[in-house]
Formats: sequence, C-alpha cells, structure tokens
Amino acid sequence: MNLIILGAPGSGKGTSATVLREKYSLAHISTGDIFRSNIKNGTPLGVEAKSYIDKGELVPDSLTVSMVEDRLSQDDCKKGYILDGFPRTLAQAEALEEMLAKNNDKIDAVLSIIVDDEIIKDRVGSRRVCEKCGASFNIKFKPTMVPGVCDLCAGNVIQRADDNPETVANRLTTYYKNTQPLIDFYANKGLIVEGNNNVDSNKCIADIENGLKAKGII
Ligand code: AMP
Repeated sequence: MNLIILGAPGSGKGTSATVLREKYSLAHISTGDIFRSNIKNGTPLGVEAKSYIDKGELVPDSLTVSMVEDRLSQDDCKKGYILDGFPRTLAQAEALEEMLAKNNDKIDAVLSIIVDDEIIKDRVGSRRVCEKCGASFNIKFKPTMVPGVCDLCAGNVIQRADDNPETVANRLTTYYKNTQPLIDFYANKGLIVEGNNNVDSNKCIADIENGLKAKGII
C-alpha cells in the first residue's frame, strides 16, 4: 500500500503517519525529517535547504524531487510507503506521477488531515521533537516522562526552530497557497481519504482506516 498524507503544518500528519507506518509496516518518508537530518549533518543539501526552512518557505522543487526520487529507490520502499510532507506543490505532484509511471508504481490513497487553524497554532506552540529520532511530543497534550528527554531513545527533546509564531503563520500561508490545490488534484483522481484531527489522533486514524476500508485498500 502506497500512501500520501497531506495536512497543514502541526495538523498531526507526522503522528498519524507514524501510527500507520507501524500498523501496516510501511516505509515512512518525511521530507521535513530528511531535510532536518541533512541540516544536522551539515551536508550541501542541508546548507541549501536551511535558508528556506528557517523562513517557513518551501525548499525548491528541483532539490526536493531528486531527494525523494533517491529515497523511493531504496529497498525498504518495496513493501509500501507513506509520503509525509511530499508532494507540497502541483509541480512536485506531477514529478511524482512521472517517477511512479517510470517504476510501474502507483499511489493507492491520499490521506487529507483536517484541523482548524486555531487548534494548529495552539498545538504547534507547545510541540516538541526529539533531535535524535524525530519523535513528536507536546508539553500540553503529550509530555515526555522526563522533561526534555525522549521517551523512545533518550535523545534531547527540543522546540523546532521553525515552530515559532511568525514562521508558523508563514508556513500556514504557504500551505494554503501551494498545498491546498493538491487536494483538488487528488480528489479528481478519486484518491482522497479524510481524517479529522480536531479532537485526537485516535479519531483521525479511525476515520482514515474507515476510508481505506471503504475503498477496499485494507
Ligand atoms: P515539515 O516537517 O513537513 O513541516 O517540513 C519542514 C520544512 O521543510 C517546511 O516548512 C519546508 O521548508 C521544508 N519542506 C518539507 N517538505 C518539503 C517539500 N515537499 N517541498 C518543499 N519544502 C519542503
């Protein structure tokens, strides 16, 4: 099963993707995580991506598309994958179509996570992530057992540099401008499955699984 998960920054798409990855043994491809790992390791890609990410802007399509193409060619993707944070523009969606056609592959469903903006702003301000394994926590809703220490790998849990109010506002604007049109693109192909994450991730996952069942995918 190959999935795409779409949702505004802070909508909880990473959390839903992690649950689905575990449950259905999927490779989890988060472009944001790949960029952050490149930034941390000081690679040329990381150095170039950082200037965009710090401002809440999108990294140029050319860099992002070749990074995803490389990742999709790795062996673990053969068992199925969930793309988290990609595509984010129509150009990326079209590049993905070409990549899939070349490899005789296809996307089975596009998960669209729905959350109100006010809830997003509140959640992102209190979001914390593990520097080492990328696990997501929230000081209000899902705190770590020991403050600042990851429950999963004991790594440092920090606030992402781009989770400050100005950058979040910019990321939301960018999302509605560039990524929202993708919902129509995939709705026209009959691929959209919605999950409402206004309340909690259990409800969101239940919506998604019901949608996937209705389409005969699981
Ligand atoms: P995320 O962790 O998905 O919120 O991504 C963090 C940041 O990485 C975004 O605000 C963008 O600057 C960059 N980014 C992640 N995925 C993409 C993508 N598909 N295209 C362009 N930029 C991206």
